[in-house]
Amino acid sequence: MQHNLTRVRDRRTEPEEFRRLLGEIASLMIYEATRPLRVKKISVRTPLEPAAGSRLEREIVLVPVLRAGLGMLNPILEIIPHARVGFIGLKREESTLQAHFYHKSLPKELGPCEVILVDPMLATGGSAVAALDFLREQGARRIRLVSLVSAPEGIARVRQSHPTLPIFTAAIDRTLNEAGYILPGLGDAGDRLFGT
Ligand code: URA
Repeated sequence: MQHNLTRVRDRRTEPEEFRRLLGEIASLMIYEATRPLRVKKISVRTPLEPAAGSRLEREIVLVPVLRAGLGMLNPILEIIPHARVGFIGLKREESTLQAHFYHKSLPKELGPCEVILVDPMLATGGSAVAALDFLREQGARRIRLVSLVSAPEGIARVRQSHPTLPIFTAAIDRTLNEAGYILPGLGDAGDRLFGT
């Protein structure tokens, strides 16, 4: 994961390779992020005899934050193809760094589900907290956050509003610059993904 993350950070990495590397990292991260999910003990019959096994106790809902979250969605769906998917579109106001919603679409009845919020850059934490607050308002009770690179400031902000929320991140970077970008970070994840 760190090998791929280093290549993702590299300014010379073009969108095509960036997408592939981010996908590989997402597959590894979702493995860790779903490890603690509860399973029900069940039994099935093999052609020979009964076998003890497990089934996920709750339905999984993936919620990528647009745009950068899209870079992790398909690789995660390869691993959890039965997940339902919601989308949250958030844009940062450049002058105030406040997050504004421009799109919201979620599956119904989040209460009994495990919701995985996918927001690759946890920078100021403003978008993550806005998305988490919205998910809670919509009834989500079990949420975990998967982010590729986090700033200590963003983690602190999420911890303040959602103290028990599990956060899975591949890196905790040094700090933020005055424009709210993570340092050293990887630049604008959406731009790097889509070549804008
Ligand atoms: N969003 C990004 O894409 N990059 C950052 O460094 C911060 C927020």
